[in-house]
Amino acid sequence: MSEFSKPLDLVFSLDYEKFGDGSGCVYRDQIIPTSYLASVLQLYGARLTVFVEVGQQLYYSSLQDWDQVKPIENQIRNLYRKGHGIELHIHPMWFFANAQNTGPLSLHRYPFDLSLLCQSQMEDIISKSVNYLKRLIEGIDSGYRPLAYRAGAWSMSNRLSLFSFLRENGIKIDSTIAPGAKFHSSYGSFDYTNYKMEASWAEDGLLEIPILTEKSRMSVIHYCNYGGIKTRRLVSRLYKNKLADMDKGKIGRLTKLFNKDYCMADYNFIAPKKIFKMIMRHYYNHVSSSGDSVPVVLIGHSKTSYYSDRLHELFHLLQSAPMPVRYRTISDIHTNK
Ligand SMILES: [Zn+2]
Repeated sequence: MSEFSKPLDLVFSLDYEKFGDGSGCVYRDQIIPTSYLASVLQLYGARLTVFVEVGQQLYYSSLQDWDQVKPIENQIRNLYRKGHGIELHIHPMWFFANAQNTGPLSLHRYPFDLSLLCQSQMEDIISKSVNYLKRLIEGIDSGYRPLAYRAGAWSMSNRLSLFSFLRENGIKIDSTIAPGAKFHSSYGSFDYTNYKMEASWAEDGLLEIPILTEKSRMSVIHYCNYGGIKTRRLVSRLYKNKLADMDKGKIGRLTKLFNKDYCMADYNFIAPKKIFKMIMRHYYNHVSSSGDSVPVVLIGHSKTSYYSDRLHELFHLLQSAPMPVRYRTISDIHTNK
């Protein structure tokens, strides 16, 4: 067996949602960028794993604001028909938003972390969310159910209870952990600095397939590339009061960027060459680990996917990779499809 015979299973994950404070536009920040991104991936036989923010859908459904709900539901069904994966993503603030059907919505920052809610609230939100996705897709595929979860804003401090409710609702995989990453604020936090970047592992009863992340002292340089800067500039105009930065002034935001000592494989911000290097390094480090393949999860967000043309370069680089590259959804890895 050659050292490169084990396949690399590459997952393009996408968090599918409006901005963190509930602002944004479903066409501009979800439907149009996702449709284009999916068409670029399809050119190369790749598929998205779409982590759908279900709270947003349930909130607008409760207001009967179908202009917000229906276009998203149509896109999710179309994506599923084309073979893309549809999975679960929850920002719990949506479940506590004050219902109003006039004027702009402004989500509160609390509760930021689903796992810190009381057990009955957590259970209720998870089962409602899983059932929503099942109902949405069962007309196309009666056997469908979401198998994977990603926590909103990567926050899941009380993982043990959260995972037990996820398991009860049929979830088998978590893809929240970004090894080495850390964030602290007055309203929410996560700390994955104790995790090493492994291919996958069992975590409190779920299979953890982490987001590809690398320790990097000067990670800011990886965000300073043409596409990354263009995206950052546009997003800063469209989304002025970023929820995670509300406590910080301009200097505080710059300090946060310069102090960041990890680089997440975010294909909206990081240059294709750097992502390719991260994938290759990860593969070489884990090719001898157990399992039939080396899974790698990249991350993007619909609300920052305005310049997906740059992915042509990543696919071009992947065509020269020495190992077989399989483009899979995260649930394919679990079911070994
Ligand atoms: Zn999110």
